[in-house]
Amino acid sequence: LYVPDLPTPGEAFAVSDGQAHYLANVMRLAEGDSLRVFNGMAGEWRAAVRKISRKAAVLEALTQTRPPAPEPDAWLCFALLKRQKTDMVVEKATELGVSVIQPIITARTNADHVNLGRLHAIATEAAEQCERLHVPEIRAPLPVMKLMADWPARPLFVADERRTAALLGPATGPTALMIGPEGGFTDQELEAIARTPIITRVSLGRRILRAETAAIAGLALHLAALP
Ligand code: SAM
Repeated sequence: LYVPDLPTPGEAFAVSDGQAHYLANVMRLAEGDSLRVFNGMAGEWRAAVRKISRKAAVLEALTQTRPPAPEPDAWLCFALLKRQKTDMVVEKATELGVSVIQPIITARTNADHVNLGRLHAIATEAAEQCERLHVPEIRAPLPVMKLMADWPARPLFVADERRTAALLGPATGPTALMIGPEGGFTDQELEAIARTPIITRVSLGRRILRAETAAIAGLALHLAALP
């Protein structure tokens, strides 16, 4: 269970209403049962259920089962997709290990807003499922031109379906992978992206992939070899 603020061992803490519901009604835990709780800063802990009802639960962290571990500093910037596909990209990107998810709005993007709370819940569930200690930060969508205007000193790999780009390789440090919209970037957007100092156009193979396939395949190629 992901607990953003784990108190010191021996101190009781309450979980959110939604988590209490999950523990009581889905996992059917009772007082005295134990479970694993985690967050990126504290690592993973075995915790005991001290009080539980259908709507509230109080736990107590007992012993650490996994210390906090550093994770790749990898961003995914992707042109916002329809809701179901956005959900899938957030889930899979969390499993594959990104640290930040930045949805972008482009001239050819149909959607322009997301429910950040919902996406955070999807990422949290994915982290729990794949035993990842960190839940990626999900940022509010930004127009690609604005994102490029304020781009930090971070190598940017832009997935480009044209054959001239070299195959995307493994990340070697902080990185960002950018995936365009279904209709592709406009020339003006491509120019703004190309002005970024540390940018590489990268290929994900010779077929034109759907944007969500490109995001998942790209992250796997880029992050799988990292420790
Ligand atoms: N420009 C396109 C068009 O409308 O014909 C296709 C866009 S593609 C469906 C969506 C995004 O996925 C692209 O902007 C690119 O970032 C990424 N992509 C798809 N296939 C790719 C490939 N083979 N190599 C690199 N990136 C790819």
